[in-house]
Amino acid sequence: MKLKDKVAVITGGTKGIGLGIAAEFVKEGAKVVIGGRNPETGAAGLEELKALGGEAIYVPCDVASTDDLQNLIDKTVERFGRLDIYVANAGTNDPYKTPYLDITPLEYDRIMDVNLKGVFFGVQYAARQMVKQGDGGAIINVSSVNAYLGLNSQMVYTTSKGGVQQLTKVQAVDLAPYGIKVNAMAPGPIATELAFRVGSSKELRDTVVSRTPIGRYGTTEECGKLAVFLASEDSNFIFGQSIYIDGGRGFQAFPAPGYKTVTYEDFDMLEQMKQK
Ligand code: NAP
Repeated sequence: MKLKDKVAVITGGTKGIGLGIAAEFVKEGAKVVIGGRNPETGAAGLEELKALGGEAIYVPCDVASTDDLQNLIDKTVERFGRLDIYVANAGTNDPYKTPYLDITPLEYDRIMDVNLKGVFFGVQYAARQMVKQGDGGAIINVSSVNAYLGLNSQMVYTTSKGGVQQLTKVQAVDLAPYGIKVNAMAPGPIATELAFRVGSSKELRDTVVSRTPIGRYGTTEECGKLAVFLASEDSNFIFGQSIYIDGGRGFQAFPAPGYKTVTYEDFDMLEQMKQK
């Protein structure tokens, strides 16, 4: 087991990619704390982790609140005595694809407070705890292929994820002397509710898949396996990198020549994932 007895916090760990990461961590022997705003989703996520035989707790946490972020670390230490791995995963986007000229300061703050400020301070609080413990740790920020692509349909989201990519570099440089390793994973289209809020029709999802060379959405399990690598000793000389997990999406701006079919049916994939 690659993470035996390690204590891991995952923000937004109650569903989607965060829950996929929590599940892979549990399978590798970690004790897991999942954060999220909705207690019902939290309870459902916890059930899934316990069904895997994992030791896990849910702590209510809105990453836009620095008080909640500090409480997440405090509750983790209270329950498990320490913190070894922190995954800044919680994120939000703009389902309405508001044009740049119409974006308000309120909407800008709503997304940036979660996607960038939440990562900035969440990692800071986690790192303070790791520094106190004195034996290092691993931090993973969840960025996006949008950190690389210039998609103007998600202006604030794209800006925030570009920020996360740069933040990951400076956090890595700053925290390396404490033995804390910081990297990011940058997903392309992964079959989750967030992705399907943007890809809200079959047509839109077909467009996403048509621009993804591998020809499908990725799974939360695939993201979890990358997170295990970044959290484990296997990646001990990797610092400040954003690893793209995107089926080639970042390198293909237009539909593949001759592209005709998709490899999933409407929301079936999401349903299957929910049942996992
Ligand atoms: P998701 O299915 O919508 O799940 C989001 C998770 O974050 C849920 O557990 C949600 O629980 C929690 N969350 C949302 N807002 C929060 C907040 N303010 N504070 C704390 N928790 C919050 O989304 P996902 O697709 O798994 O996305 C996870 C991360 O991957 C995000 O950072 C996203 O930008 C990134 N990403 C996703 C894709 C994709 O295609 N899916 C692609 C690139 C990057 P509550 O609602 O109960 O709080």
